[in-house]
This record gives sequence, C-alpha cells and structure tokens, in this order.
Amino acid sequence: MLVNAKEMLTKAKAGKYAVGQFNINNLEWTKAVLETAQELNSPVILGVSAGAGKYMCGFKTVAAMVDAMVDSLGITVPVALHLDHGTYEDCYKCIDAGFSSIMFDGSHYPIEENIAKTKELIDVCAQKGLSLEAEVGSIGGEEDGVVGMGECADPDECKMIADLGVTMLAAGIGNIHGKYPENWAGLSFETLDAIQQKTGDMPLVLHGGTGIPEDMIKKAISLGVAKINVNTECQISFAEAVRKYIEEGKDLQGKGFDPRKLLAPGTQAIKDTVKEKMELFGSVGKA
Ligand SMILES: [Zn+2]
Repeated sequence: MLVNAKEMLTKAKAGKYAVGQFNINNLEWTKAVLETAQELNSPVILGVSAGAGKYMCGFKTVAAMVDAMVDSLGITVPVALHLDHGTYEDCYKCIDAGFSSIMFDGSHYPIEENIAKTKELIDVCAQKGLSLEAEVGSIGGEEDGVVGMGECADPDECKMIADLGVTMLAAGIGNIHGKYPENWAGLSFETLDAIQQKTGDMPLVLHGGTGIPEDMIKKAISLGVAKINVNTECQISFAEAVRKYIEEGKDLQGKGFDPRKLLAPGTQAIKDTVKEKMELFGSVGKA
C-alpha cells in the first residue's frame, strides 16, 4: 500500500537522515528502486515527472503499476508515489490517479499566485490524505522543459510558504538539475541554514542530487534536508551498463537479445546506485 511522505520525512528530519526520491521511467526502474528499498529496509519515494508520466502512458497507468508491484513484490517498507515538479493541472490528475504525494511547482508564478494555488492544493491534499511539496526559488538546469536559473531562495518567502501547511519544502540553494558544470559554486549553506532557522521542523528538499559531493550532501542533511531527489545518476548508470553489454557483443550471443537479458545489467546498475544513495543519505534500516 502506498503512503504519503509526511511520516517518513518527519522521522527523517528528526533523525538527521534523508529519504531518497528516485525518479522512475519504466517497469524495470520501478522494480529496481522498490526491491532495493525493501532489501535495505529503507523508506522510499518514487518520483514521476510529467514527461515520465506521459512516457508510461499517463499517471493512471503509473499508479496502477506501482500499486500492483508493491503488492506482487511483497514490499512492506513505506513507499510514496510522488509527482515531481507538477503543474497545477497535473497535480489534480495525479490526485485523481491515486498518487500519495504531489509537488506543486509554482515557482514560475508571481508569489501571490503561487500562494493562492498552493493553499488550494494543500486543502485538497489534506482531505484526501496526500502530502504536498512546494518550491520556492527556482532550481537551476532543465527538467522536462521546466527551466530554472538556480537562484537561492529567500528565507522569508520560504517561511511564508511553509506556514501555509505544506508537508515539505524545496528551496533553491544553488543546486541544479542534471550534470553540474565544472565551475559550479557549490551549495549555499548560508542560505540553507537561514531557511532552516525560519522554517523549524519543516522537512527541506534538495533537488538535483546527482553530482553533489558527498560531504556537501551530508552537511545539507545536518542542516535540515530530509528528502533528496535523484534522477540523472540512475539514468547514467543504467545507460552505461546497457552500453557495456552491447559493446561486449553479449546481445549477439545465444539469446542475449532477449530484453529481459539486455536490460538486466541496467536494472542492476540502478539498484547499485540506489543502494549507494540510501547508504549516503542514512535511510538504511529506517523503514
Ligand atoms: Zn527537481
């Protein structure tokens, strides 16, 4: 059964560790993340972007697949199914489809409109038992067509949005989506610390987890980050493993062309990446 992200993140914030959000793209991806979470007895959040939802034939298909898989695989650790960077319209689609958590990315609206729409969605989520993530200050890089400049969030704005009653808050602290450039300035811990001081117990969310050095991840967790989004890193390890399989000519040996064989190394690579992240974030054994 799917749960919302409230309890797992409240525990994570109090226990000074972070729960990973791993974005899924297909059946193999979902299976790899769920199995690893179960093996490591870790809570987990499955992230679905608008693009990935479309690719998987819509949010209803995704919710039905995840729901059935949690049951078939005998998954007992807490699993949240979460819309990543949702538009206002997609939030309602996912609420309808049976997601247990949504992110409303209102960062591109003027602050007043962001607040009005966030408030409305908080009420709907509260009625239906979902958790809601809001974002203040856009996060750099490109994710499914949503482009942000990577600014640092204003701590006062963060407090204003946190006080509306959101479950968790994503705030830009110099993090970006995708690969980090050579000349990246690093995370702004000064901003993070100021945000944490203003928002108290609110679990903070770090987007763009790929490529942030381990010591920065640990410091961010110590300053109140309780949810870390990982997407690109799983994609890179999946692609590398599949490429290696084909370059070694394994698809040409026997029935190596069987998709179940062809995709197996990629699926294992996702599992290895997820395990590495759960160990780094400290969520192992916290289910
Ligand atoms: Zn993001």
